[in-house]
Amino acid sequence: PFDVLVVGGGPAGASAAIYAARKGLNTGVVAERFGGQVADTLAIENFISVKATEGPKLVAQLEEHVKEYDVDIMKGQRAAGIARGDYIEVPLESGATLKAKSVIMATGARWRNMNVPGEQEYKGKGVAYCPHCDGPLFKGKPVAVIGGGNSGIEAAIDLANITSHVTVLEFADTLRADEVLIRKANSLPNITIIKNAQTTEVLGDGQRVTGLSYTDRVSGEQHQVDLAGIFVQIGLIPNSEFLKETDVQLSRFGEIEVDKHGATSMSGVYAAGDVTDSAFKQIIIAMGSGATASLGAFDYLIRHSDE
Ligand code: FAD
Repeated sequence: PFDVLVVGGGPAGASAAIYAARKGLNTGVVAERFGGQVADTLAIENFISVKATEGPKLVAQLEEHVKEYDVDIMKGQRAAGIARGDYIEVPLESGATLKAKSVIMATGARWRNMNVPGEQEYKGKGVAYCPHCDGPLFKGKPVAVIGGGNSGIEAAIDLANITSHVTVLEFADTLRADEVLIRKANSLPNITIIKNAQTTEVLGDGQRVTGLSYTDRVSGEQHQVDLAGIFVQIGLIPNSEFLKETDVQLSRFGEIEVDKHGATSMSGVYAAGDVTDSAFKQIIIAMGSGATASLGAFDYLIRHSDE
């Protein structure tokens, strides 16, 4: 068995693996795709100490760093559950089962897509998901936020500081955000909120986003808005479906609940990064929590070494 089995190869998993290997622990990483969301990211300007980089470059550096150590990396494999036998057992979708004395879940999350024409084509070319990351790229330009929940209205308030104008498009006839956020958004002169708006297409010139079209769900009319960027804020879904019937406790949003040491409700099982109930989802935060979970697992192992 592994001393530490890390499930997930994004920044949280890479960090957890390095910390475990540096303790001399027999460490494995099983990941569907090494790099996680970072592999889909273009510009990264908030990974502190690196002024600017690109996702694929950072992924290559992460992998190079992990490979400095004797870590068994198993790519192209999806975990399908977790259970306790003699050891902690992680069944894979392929049918195999991995065994470990401790496990770190770092399976990340995925942004819910609008699923309209143009969205995939212009991802990273104006279609964005993270205002903390990409907001400054649209300085002085008009943008839209799709979604009027808390994250959408927070994004609008944030972007109103940086961009020239923010149009919020909400599908329903009411905003689901907290009243205090709605009041703040309404007080800002460069935010327009449009309800009953169904986004139908992302428009572009072949290189970049130029706008979007939406249908007014009350009148049935089609409208166009000229834009440089579109922030999609209709949900971040944790990759935790495979843990639903297990002893690992999930929040009502499906996030793995962890304590200060990264420990989950299942003894010997730790978690880190975007799949957890951490307050914010960023590369640097995922790496920090990966280190925390790994040190947590190390503490667990030295206390349970004779089991
Ligand atoms: P992830 O990166 O999601 O990695 C999850 C890992 O788990 C992957 O290896 C995946 O293949 C694997 N996995 C999932 N399910 C399973 C399973 N069942 N079995 C095995 N493996 C599994 N953050 C910033 O700080 N700065 C930015 O500029 C920035 N830009 C972003 C741009 C985009 C387009 C996106 C989508 C995100 C961006 N983020 C940015 C957020 C950042 O990428 C995430 O916070 C970070 O990647 C989370 O790391 P993680 O390791 O928790 O999860």
